[in-house]
Amino acid sequence: MRKLLILFSLFFLTKAWTQPAKDTLRSKFVLVIHGGAGTILKSQMTPEKEKAYNEALNTALNIGYAILKKGGTALDAVEACVRSMEDNPLFNAGKGAVFTNEGKNELDAAIMNGRTLAAGSVAGVTTIKNPVSAARAVMEKSPHVMMVGPGAEKFAGQQGLEIVDPFYFFTESRWNGLQRARKEDSLKAEMDHSDTAKRTWLKQKENKDFKYGTVGAVALDRHGNLAAATSTGGMTNKKFGRVGDAPIIGAGTYANNKTAAISGTGWGEYFIRLVMAKSISDMMEFGKIKLRAAADEMIMKRLPALGGDGGLIAVDKDGNIAMPFCTEGMYRGYIRENGKAVINIYKQ
Ligand code: ASP
Repeated sequence: MRKLLILFSLFFLTKAWTQPAKDTLRSKFVLVIHGGAGTILKSQMTPEKEKAYNEALNTALNIGYAILKKGGTALDAVEACVRSMEDNPLFNAGKGAVFTNEGKNELDAAIMNGRTLAAGSVAGVTTIKNPVSAARAVMEKSPHVMMVGPGAEKFAGQQGLEIVDPFYFFTESRWNGLQRARKEDSLKAEMDHSDTAKRTWLKQKENKDFKYGTVGAVALDRHGNLAAATSTGGMTNKKFGRVGDAPIIGAGTYANNKTAAISGTGWGEYFIRLVMAKSISDMMEFGKIKLRAAADEMIMKRLPALGGDGGLIAVDKDGNIAMPFCTEGMYRGYIRENGKAVINIYKQ
């Protein structure tokens, strides 16, 4: 009898050791999203347009909230949020992406898992309806981190993702944006130094609204894990083959459970040169600087000092958030466990 008892206790003890401790769901969770930073001025916005942006951001936040509330992963939440904004022509990602100089839509996207540091991205794709899901497929279904162009498209098709005709991405407003940018370029090229009218027009147009509109999401889930995702059409009038910061892990997208999940938007070349997202993570990990201070240092000081502009959203492992930007505005919002979506567009 005693032997039997010992055997039983041994059995249960081994079971307890070998099985992972049951993941108790925390009550705290948070999701932050952006729909791009740029020259977004209240004076240039119609009430209808503002309402449409608010609704789109609210929809994305609620999609992610539903996932996080029931204990879903940060990874699922950020992917779903970004997909919803990719499908909305208001944003420069998926449907609604800006045009390259050649009149094409070349899309970039990335996703990162803060728990494992696994990451996936695609760049320069023209036929994948939801590039963020292709990025996730690269992360989970391939041994790679980054795939580009036709190879990435072939892979996405093999993974059963929706492939569309490139014309799917056409929108009139983005096409008009390209024409304005082309005009700006030709004026620049032929500019006579004494031509003040042209100068003024150019000054007004430079880096204006038709250049930005990337989307991104970062989340802390109820398991305590972080994730980040970003998707974009890049910058209007970009050269063929140009890749921005969004799909570059550590530049426009980064997540690490030790520090924070970060998604950027703005002038990609500068985000790449500053290794924006990873720099913030490193300042937190090695410099013991808090998220808000690290994000402000990069976005409000180092980015403009180098000549760039933009913003980012971030959430740290404790659920603190940061949403700095050095442009006129940034479409942004967050939602916590209380389910109250907070959305802002302009400077506070
Ligand atoms: N960062 C994006 C890029 O450079 C553009 C943007 O965020 O608006 O591709």
